[in-house]
Amino acid sequence: VNTGSGWVEAPGEPRLREVAASGLEVPDAEPIGHPQFGPLLDHPGKLICVWRNYGEHARELGNPESAWPETFLRLPSTLIGPGDEIRVPAVSTQVDYEGELALVIGKGGRHIPASRAEQHVFGYTIANDVTVRDWQWRGQQFTPGKNFDGTLPVGPDLVTADELDWRGLRLETRLNGETVQSATTDQLIFDVPALIEFISSWTTLEPGDLILTGTPAGVGAGRKPPLWLKPGDVVEVEIEGIGSLRNPVVRDERAVATDRWSQIAGSER
Ligand code: MG
Repeated sequence: VNTGSGWVEAPGEPRLREVAASGLEVPDAEPIGHPQFGPLLDHPGKLICVWRNYGEHARELGNPESAWPETFLRLPSTLIGPGDEIRVPAVSTQVDYEGELALVIGKGGRHIPASRAEQHVFGYTIANDVTVRDWQWRGQQFTPGKNFDGTLPVGPDLVTADELDWRGLRLETRLNGETVQSATTDQLIFDVPALIEFISSWTTLEPGDLILTGTPAGVGAGRKPPLWLKPGDVVEVEIEGIGSLRNPVVRDERAVATDRWSQIAGSER
């Protein structure tokens, strides 16, 4: 993975060591203009996301603040890299951005107390939890709306935990240059230690697992009128001390708008 100041071996990624051992040259970390990085993690472990983790965001969508961290899972096929196209599926007209602080687990564990949780973080990065709202809200479970292929840009930089304190970082999402989300990570309801403690109380965290900490207020669905992503848009999520994640939006023509399920998804709930 590229930490911004050079390449380091990510947890669960022995490839660089193998390359070095083979006598071949390890890839040069010098900037090369406009590189195509690909996904930050190419063999990700679990992708665990947190819902309603900023109070103002919970309220903008008509939800109460919860005393319980709401989590959901994403599939590895949703991951894309910085600069990759976010594809608005033809089966939806309600695709939304969600800028988020994300973290990569470096040291696994189960029942990790909050007091020791940060020792388990390999580093911090940026994610855009792009959501297909009509498919998210149509049923009782929102797996489909959070798992369209290629809807999770992550990266480009990963700042190791020894170099960055996650507290008080300014997060901004810009749509076509206009700021649509602006908050700081101090506003997280369940902070990084609490999330690691909670998640590891029900699953074993492993090196390479990715945790998305949730999005602040300002999503398209919370606006009147709603603000949906459309082809030609550019979404950029910037987090202080980490960097900037920028992706263009295109239309995905691989599905047809007359699809049986899109009609149900778009109908009255
Ligand atoms: Mg989210």
